[in-house]
Amino acid sequence: MPQGNRYKGLIDKFKAVLPVSDTTRFISLGEGNTPLIKLENIPALIGKNVDIYVKYEGLNPTGSFKDRGMTMAVTKAVEEGSQAIICASTGNTSASAAAYAARAGIKAFVLIPEGKIALGKLAQAMMHGAEIIQIKGNFDHGMQLVKEVAEHAPVTIVNSINPYRLQGQKTAAYEIVEALGQVPDYHCLPVGNAGNISAHWMGYTEMAQPENESAAGNYSKLAVNKRPVMVGYQAAGAAPFLKGEMIDDPETVATAIRIGRPQSWDKAWAAQKESAGWFDLLTDEEILAAQKLLTEKEGIFCEPASAASVGGAIRDIKNGKIPEGSTIVCTLTGHGLKDPDTAISQCVAQPQAIEASLDAVKAAILDKL
Ligand SMILES: *Cc1c(COP(=O)(O)O)cnc(C)c1O
Repeated sequence: MPQGNRYKGLIDKFKAVLPVSDTTRFISLGEGNTPLIKLENIPALIGKNVDIYVKYEGLNPTGSFKDRGMTMAVTKAVEEGSQAIICASTGNTSASAAAYAARAGIKAFVLIPEGKIALGKLAQAMMHGAEIIQIKGNFDHGMQLVKEVAEHAPVTIVNSINPYRLQGQKTAAYEIVEALGQVPDYHCLPVGNAGNISAHWMGYTEMAQPENESAAGNYSKLAVNKRPVMVGYQAAGAAPFLKGEMIDDPETVATAIRIGRPQSWDKAWAAQKESAGWFDLLTDEEILAAQKLLTEKEGIFCEPASAASVGGAIRDIKNGKIPEGSTIVCTLTGHGLKDPDTAISQCVAQPQAIEASLDAVKAAILDKL
């Protein structure tokens, strides 16, 4: 059979540092390999000499970074003989689980908070044929129920408490080092369950210790006895890391991080402490302003939760917490098309309909020039 050098997804690319074997069937949709885009206009706008890159994870197959973890979690579930997966989700995990289950030919059950899931994510879960269970509660309630039900039914949990999720997600750190040719000074992410910030820290840490023969050295020849400072941003209404304890009624427009009881609590605190990083919060207004700034000034459309990374980084660059001369990577976790309602409701000028005549169109254009 011809092999070629077609990109076959992140498990194939990073198998030397992932828990798979020669006989494992990879359940892949070509995830990973997302662009690292250098911001060209925003640094000038804020008047600071910094290099800001965004890792555009919205370009994964189902539109979010969740695919990195899901390809691993579903691959291992299938390898272990599982016929069904289950997750609680604020939306993107359910979309990803549904797609990878379809690919694998197994069943997916997804628990989502009624009325609090962005439209695009719901459309995905429905189209891929997942069993959707809407609960009258939030993500944290759903997560608790999933843990309990998995003890009574033959289903594999594919939330980020499944260790294979973080294994898959750590590959983003490898890709960043490979693309940049260096380790960034700062890495900024939105934080919900805190699995992603923990997974990145795991990836950077492996690359910094190639002496453990984990084959990580293959991917970081440039490397690296350096790791970035990890910075996590939360929404003001859903900021348990800022409060220092779990909270009960998380609320934010950024539904992907509307979480009060982060599942990777200890791991994320370890990443913060070991990297000398920090957590901070943004109001919903600040999150939406950052989302708009990225779309208007850079042409990059991410969902609200994702924009917390850039909004937070800009603030910390302006206030000097992130010094000039730094190289900063911000993870854009999901695509803007996931949440069309929030996007449209932010645009003050809704398009007006005019007569379909040359005069009317000419007038409309001249009016704006
Ligand atoms: C899941 C998700 C997050 C939060 O990631 P955690 O690993 O839960 O911290 C942020 N943004 C988007 C778009 C997500 O889907």
